[in-house]
Order: sequence, then C-alpha cells, then structure tokens
Amino acid sequence: MTEGDINFNNEIMYSDCPVCGGEKTLEVTNRTDNIPYFGDILETSVSCKSCGYQSSDSISLEHNDPVRYTLTIDDSKLNTRVAKSQTATVTIPELGLKVEPGPKSQGYVSNVEGILNRFESAVIRAIKLEGEEIPYEVRENALNIIDYLSKIKIGELSTLLVIEDPFGNSVIDDDDAQKELLKQEEADKLQTGFTTIDQNEVE
Ligand SMILES: [Zn+2]
Repeated sequence: MTEGDINFNNEIMYSDCPVCGGEKTLEVTNRTDNIPYFGDILETSVSCKSCGYQSSDSISLEHNDPVRYTLTIDDSKLNTRVAKSQTATVTIPELGLKVEPGPKSQGYVSNVEGILNRFESAVIRAIKLEGEEIPYEVRENALNIIDYLSKIKIGELSTLLVIEDPFGNSVIDDDDAQKELLKQEEADKLQTGFTTIDQNEVE
C-alpha cells in the first residue's frame, strides 16, 4: 500500500470520562481511513489522561448492497483471497459452522486456508472450554469437524464456504465464487455486530 492509497484525517476532541468522571480528561480521536476491500472506515479511540481508561472502535462508512458470496472450497482454493468485514457472517453450512459478527469483531483480509484455520481454532477452543465434562457426542462432533477441515486442506473433501455481508464490504476473490445480492429481508436477519450510522450524520 502506498501513501497515495491512504487518505486520513485526525480529529481530537476532549470529553468527560465515563469511568472516573473526570471533566474533559477523555481524549477522543476520530480517524477516517480507507482500507483495501473494506473502503472507508471511521476509527474512534478514547483515552483518559486521569484514570487511563482506553477503548477503540471502528465503524464502516460504506453502505454497499447486501451481498452473499459462495464458493466450493477444496485444496485448490486454499490461497483464494477472502476479505471479511466486521459485519460479515461466515458459514460452512455442511459442518454447521458459523461465525457471526459481535461488538468486538474485526475485519480481516485472509485466504481460504486462514478461514479454515480460524474455524479449527474456534472448535478446539470450544472443546477446551467444555473441559472434562464435555458430553461424548459433542466431543465426537467437534473431532469430526476438525477431521473434515483437515481433509479439505489436503484435497480429500470439498465443501461450501458462504460469506454474507449486509453492508457488502466482504469478498471471496475467486472467479469461481458466486456473488448474489441479498434481498433486504435476508440482510435484515444478519447480525451486524455494531451500530451503524448514516454518512450524513458523520459529516
Ligand atoms: Zn477517566
């Protein structure tokens, strides 16, 4: 990325701190940035010089049409680029795997292998969380999923990968990927993970 691709501006304001109640001790920095695949985002970070409270959040300023990408993935698709915005839901329907956006969701640019690895770690984390009390079927199911994911990676199996984004800022960048626009009622059913604001209100 060259500097020409980035257009940003910084704006600092002072506000009262919600944590310690300090008057005008909270430094609020708003920064707009343009990120490949994701377009314009607004990053807001706050830090209190009295109590040290810190927080940051980013909001997409792009409102593209709601979109769904589907791709049959196997070992030949491991390097396919995937851009997943904060608002995207990623699903592998056949395995019952789904990641919905939450308030702490991050957008990222990865590839199919990276997505499979993320699912794998999530399943492993879930098994560990259950600990020794884990029901037999749950454990078997989790192990089957991990087995399936690794068989996709070595080309023994294939499955469908789906990314749905109500703000259209996600992409499966592959000629074989199917792109369809979501109907508004389908888009409304998706979690967005954060509050969205009208661009007009920002300016
Ligand atoms: Zn404070």
